[in-house]
Amino acid sequence: MAKPKRVGIYVRISKDRKGQELGIQRQEKACRELCERLGWGVLKVYPENDTSASTTSKRKRPVYTQMLRDAREGLIDGIVVYSIDRLTRRIAELTHFLEVQKEHGFSFATTEGEDTATANGRMILTIKGAVAQQETERMSERINGSLLQRREKGKPHAGGSRLFGFKEGSNLQKLEPKEADAIRLGARMLTDEQKTPGDVARAWNEEGLRTPEAGTAWDIQKVKRVYRSERIGGIVTYKGQDIGDSIYPHPLTRQEWENVQAALDARSRPAGKGAGKRKHLYSGFLKCGHCQSTMRIQWATIQGRTFRRTFCHSGQVGAGGERGCGKVNRRYDWIEERLNAVVKAALMKRRPQPQTAPAEDVSEEIKVLEERIRGLRGRWKEGGLEDEDYFDSLTHLRSDLQTLRAREAAAVVRESRTETDALAVWRDEDMQNLERRRAIVASVISSVDVYSVGRGRKKPPEPDSITIWPVGAERDASGA
Ligand SMILES: [Zn+2]
Repeated sequence: MAKPKRVGIYVRISKDRKGQELGIQRQEKACRELCERLGWGVLKVYPENDTSASTTSKRKRPVYTQMLRDAREGLIDGIVVYSIDRLTRRIAELTHFLEVQKEHGFSFATTEGEDTATANGRMILTIKGAVAQQETERMSERINGSLLQRREKGKPHAGGSRLFGFKEGSNLQKLEPKEADAIRLGARMLTDEQKTPGDVARAWNEEGLRTPEAGTAWDIQKVKRVYRSERIGGIVTYKGQDIGDSIYPHPLTRQEWENVQAALDARSRPAGKGAGKRKHLYSGFLKCGHCQSTMRIQWATIQGRTFRRTFCHSGQVGAGGERGCGKVNRRYDWIEERLNAVVKAALMKRRPQPQTAPAEDVSEEIKVLEERIRGLRGRWKEGGLEDEDYFDSLTHLRSDLQTLRAREAAAVVRESRTETDALAVWRDEDMQNLERRRAIVASVISSVDVYSVGRGRKKPPEPDSITIWPVGAERDASGA
């Protein structure tokens, strides 16, 4: 083999060991002396600063990566390092390095005299790499203890009481079909039907289901505990970190479990003023024109006709401890129609905002990442990947995936903020859409004062029987 003319010298300074003695200059000097002795030409130096090549380090080594790329592309035709543990301390990385070297045929030497041109030299290198790795492992606590390995392979932590939805003694590996069905049913109630954990508890109790721990009836807290466990979504955690999906069956998919979390979170958020079960578009907006109490809206049936009315409720104590005066009692539908017209007019009048950037489509990138995670998991399960490498890569891919999903969600929100969409949302009168429509109302109307009109009047009320306070012109702002 011809003598290399474009050698790359790789020097690395790390805090982990002998950092002081093996300063970058000293490593470089020794490497240059070796090249001179061998008659090799030096092209460039690759200095990696303050990064540990230990087996437990999650940090990347960009310079190392760059150097390997240069070697693959033939930019450099040889690599020289001070000692093997400057190159790597990971046996998997060393193996990979030697494979790349063999494939692309560049020269390699260390000042300690290893020779990769012979099988013997390569074996010595591998052994040295293994020793370096062992040293690192002794220095720091091994992250892939048996617990992590169990969890990584999708096996749950042994022991503990049975989790609802899983068979007794199966170690969370087999489903209890009836309970798993109940969990799925409850998840749909919480996410699609806006039911409460209390509703789920009642449904389960009626089914005759009991808690696995004590065999008692279900209540709100116990139901919440079931749904807050990542396990029912097949999510494996280690020290609170999501590290992958269980290989065993689980009642909910990851997505379903996350949807339930969102529903529970929304529910546990502190209630705003007049919060509660909102069934009417303008609940909370209507104030009694006499006493300023928030008016109640209710369905009423009088003489076989069902309609909605709104009234100042004298039995209700307001936020400031005041009671409603009870003097105002009106048909709600007329008010709603009028307010709808105001909101719609406001939306039409708003000038459409120029489309800033085209909506970002990251779904393709997300698919690619998900595919990579699946591939990685497959390789690891077949033993083609070191635990450490798997865990490192998985952590990175997962964090990338989360970033992309956040961007995807943000893009959806941005889109729904454009005015045409606000109108479209507004026109969709489905009950599912109520909260979004209420948000649009809140962007237009601050509050509405409602005055009493005479009873039994056939003709519609006068327009000034309500006073609409638009956003930006609130009475509070005027100092009144
Ligand atoms: Zn009142």
